[in-house]
Amino acid sequence: LIQLYQPLNFMGMVYREIKQAVIDIEALFDILDREPEIADRPGAQPLAVAAGTVRFENVQFAYVPERPILRGVSFEAPAGKTIAIVGPSGAGKSTISRLLFRFYEPQSGRITIDGQDIAEITQKSLRASIGMVPQDTVLFNDTIGYNVRYGRWDATEEEVHNAAALAQIDGFIRSLPEGYDTSVGERGLKLSGGEKQRVAIARTILKGPPILVLDEATSALDSFTEKDIQDALERVSRGRTTLVIAHRLSTVINADEIIVLDKGVIAERGTHSELLDKDGLYAALWNRQREADEAREKLERTRAEE
Ligand code: ADP
Ligand code: MG
Repeated sequence: LIQLYQPLNFMGMVYREIKQAVIDIEALFDILDREPEIADRPGAQPLAVAAGTVRFENVQFAYVPERPILRGVSFEAPAGKTIAIVGPSGAGKSTISRLLFRFYEPQSGRITIDGQDIAEITQKSLRASIGMVPQDTVLFNDTIGYNVRYGRWDATEEEVHNAAALAQIDGFIRSLPEGYDTSVGERGLKLSGGEKQRVAIARTILKGPPILVLDEATSALDSFTEKDIQDALERVSRGRTTLVIAHRLSTVINADEIIVLDKGVIAERGTHSELLDKDGLYAALWNRQREADEAREKLERTRAEE
């Protein structure tokens, strides 16, 4: 009986592993948020990153021809600097990050990294150079350790723990019943939005890419969690070219340049104080968010007193 049982057990194991692989690939495409449709050009060369300067040159893009999303967007993220992209919801902010990852191609204009058109280089080398902390992090159905290590497979145990500590999630992981071996995802422990984002930050710290894209969560995280995440993000972006897509303007005050996107064009650009002086769209967004924050704080205070 045991002899008969063992092959079946083995088959079960193989089946589970295949199923796991399928789930991982699905999760991966969720992360990438796209169909695998863009191919490398014949003879595409790997990207040679020097300093990591990112340039958008008169980029025009539409998902469907009748609805232009970006209508001639130009900006430069100089090596090591932080550029923030803000603007109303639907303005095309996340589209900019998708184009930089080459999930889609612009209809005209070009995007370069250190002078190399990203349409001409291999996608593998492009994505190896960019770290992305997406709006909604999808975790693999595996251990939390695996999910951090995903950033760089050859990382040592110590490097994994250090990255998690920088992302302010190490203490939380150690407090779990099985620590780094705790299963997460659909069939394991459910993590909050903020915890998942910190896992994504840890993963990105481990990867250590020269270019970073941070698409901030829209969901209203409580202010404590948000402060934690801000600190972690600031640490990881130091010395790297960083594109922050910000919903919360409080996070862009220190950006080297803020780009205000509206209806597919750059409506305003400058530093935080320059834009406040301009008293235009940015100032209006800033004031509206201040009012919303104050109302929320007031509500939290009344709740706390009850
Ligand atoms: P933001 O991040 O500024 O809120 P997005 O860049 O995500 O805006 O989207 C810009 C516009 O493009 C939105 O109106 C959105 O509905 C549309 N859009 C986003 N993704 C797709 C898609 N895959 N197909 C068609 N339209 C899309
Ligand atoms: Mg977005």
